[in-house]
Amino acid sequence: MASTVGKVIKCKAAVAWEAGKPLLIEEVDVAPPQAMEVRIKILFTSLCHTDVYFWEAKGQNPVFPRIFGHEAGGIVESVGEGVTELAPGDHVLPVFTGECKECAHCKSAESNMCDLLRINTDRGVMIGDGQSRFSINGKPIFHFVGTSTFSEYTVIHEGCVAKINPAAPLDKVCVLSCGISTGLGATINVAKPPKGSTVAIFGLGAVGLAAAEGARLAGASRIIGVDLNSDRFEAARKFGCTEFVNPKEHTKPVQQVLAEMTNGGVDRSVECTGNINAMIQAFECVHDGWGVAVLVGVPHKDAEFKTHPMNFLNERTLRGTFFGNYKPRTDLPSVVEKYMSGELELDKFITHSVPFSEINTAFDLMLKGEGLRCIIRMDE
Ligand code: NAD
Ligand code: ZN
Repeated sequence: MASTVGKVIKCKAAVAWEAGKPLLIEEVDVAPPQAMEVRIKILFTSLCHTDVYFWEAKGQNPVFPRIFGHEAGGIVESVGEGVTELAPGDHVLPVFTGECKECAHCKSAESNMCDLLRINTDRGVMIGDGQSRFSINGKPIFHFVGTSTFSEYTVIHEGCVAKINPAAPLDKVCVLSCGISTGLGATINVAKPPKGSTVAIFGLGAVGLAAAEGARLAGASRIIGVDLNSDRFEAARKFGCTEFVNPKEHTKPVQQVLAEMTNGGVDRSVECTGNINAMIQAFECVHDGWGVAVLVGVPHKDAEFKTHPMNFLNERTLRGTFFGNYKPRTDLPSVVEKYMSGELELDKFITHSVPFSEINTAFDLMLKGEGLRCIIRMDE
């Protein structure tokens, strides 16, 4: 096959033309990577709830037409000027937040909030020149969180790409590029439950169940799953959840239900719903004196967190995290190795799989609350 390096590639992409309307598979032009960028052939991608919020654009700013997708695995096709850490043929996971390795955040052991490449959901263009690399008949199509993986080829800043073990199966480890690493890291890196502690997980989708898995790996003895959808409970046992609460089945506030179950409150809680009420509940249900709550869900753009300051004075801590505090390039390869060594199971998160032509099925499943991750096979 003739080399595509330096040339425009024509390929298939799933384009969201309007908020909430099914994606259409279109032929798009993908420009070559510019300075500090790489062009990647996406082999597998999956759907995370964050894609759905921005596609619905009910609680988020509308940016259309746009190519969504940020949880994926692929192979580098070509690299732009100045790229030193990636080469054609590398197996990679794109990440919605980046690591420039030079700013104060990247140099801090405590932060993954890179100054240059941190998540920006409203930007639809590349950082380097403010242009999109996607077009149809010359009309630009916007990017999403710097990744746009619902395309056979995409262009991504080098800082948002983790190079991983080429032996890792991309149809499995693609789920580590967002949801599973986020949930796992939220517990292990941020909530840090002591051995024998009690942890509440709000929202038992893939992110929440990865957070539960993190609690189990950390040695928590009770893991209480909270979800409005009781259909989630049976499957959640496989992820270490030991007890369940459906707030709809109680007349008392869920904070009180949890306090009664745990002699005053849980030691740690991790919120993975995106719902502001669940965020407040997740904070207020932790034990005074030592409890720590971690917010992970992406809120409505106008949401406001309201709680009585006394909840803080009583020595509760509230934290939040993107990508489980992992630095994408430095830390993600080692999360992939956790899967390779058998320490971390991924198969149980993957409940569905569809060819690219049926990508809208993945949206339907998520809207119905069915299953966890749906893998989209790009080459079919
Ligand atoms: P999902 O839709 O698969 O799971 C969410 C679960 O939360 C569902 O089971 C739903 O029934 C439950 N839920 C909704 N409202 C609730 C409430 N008020 N109380 C209890 N349970 C409730 O979604 P997902 O893909 O697992 O993502 C979870 C959240 O994490 C989303 O908000 C997503 O945007 C966010 N996210 C954040 C990051 C980050 O880096 N911070 C990364 C990935 C995803
Ligand atoms: Zn995501």
